Amino acid sequence: MKQLALATNNAHKVKEVGSILGELGVQILTPKDLNVAFAADETGSTFSENALIKARELFRLTRLPSIADDSGICVSALDGAPGVHSARFGGEGLDDKGRVLLLLEKLKGNPDRNAHYTCVIAYVDGTTERTFEGKCKGRISEEYDTSGIYGFGYDPIFIFPGFQKPFSQVPDSEKNRVSHRKEALQQLLSFLKTNPI
Ligand code: IMP
Repeated sequence: MKQLALATNNAHKVKEVGSILGELGVQILTPKDLNVAFAADETGSTFSENALIKARELFRLTRLPSIADDSGICVSALDGAPGVHSARFGGEGLDDKGRVLLLLEKLKGNPDRNAHYTCVIAYVDGTTERTFEGKCKGRISEEYDTSGIYGFGYDPIFIFPGFQKPFSQVPDSEKNRVSHRKEALQQLLSFLKTNPI
């Protein structure tokens, strides 16, 4: 069976990637499965640069066709911030909730609540490098949702128009149908169907 290396040890991401690329009949392997110490500095200024940095590094370590993603939330009223800095918005001292509350604070009283999640997946195999971008448009709520039990990161304040409630109240199976990650993965799937590993 052909093999594809995936630059994450996050079981949730492995499952999501596996379910979308499953029809290719490719075995998806993590750095842990491959017994390599994968680490890459996300020094790029765009999602594509960061995804490519990670996919290139994984390819260098494994010599297997490799994919990596980079994602974040971009807020119109903040000129696209936090963007590539989403995971560390506000500095190292904050947790997910702290980052979300900081974002709400920065938007306080601002009527422009437009935002989107972006996900870029990079594919690197030694001869080919490609990136695939997915977006999920929505708006930032006024309040932090404390009742939702789903999602992660900025989901307690991200409202997708089709659902009219924060992603934190939407089960993964529904979110994954409309997510930025899903869109990027679908593009990767189309690419791999016409360019088999
Ligand atoms: P990455 O792991 O470097 O791609 O960082 C992604 C960061 O963007 C996460 O830590 C979250 O803060 C945010 N993010 C990306 N996708 C989502 C999502 O679907 N829901 C909530 N937050 C997200």
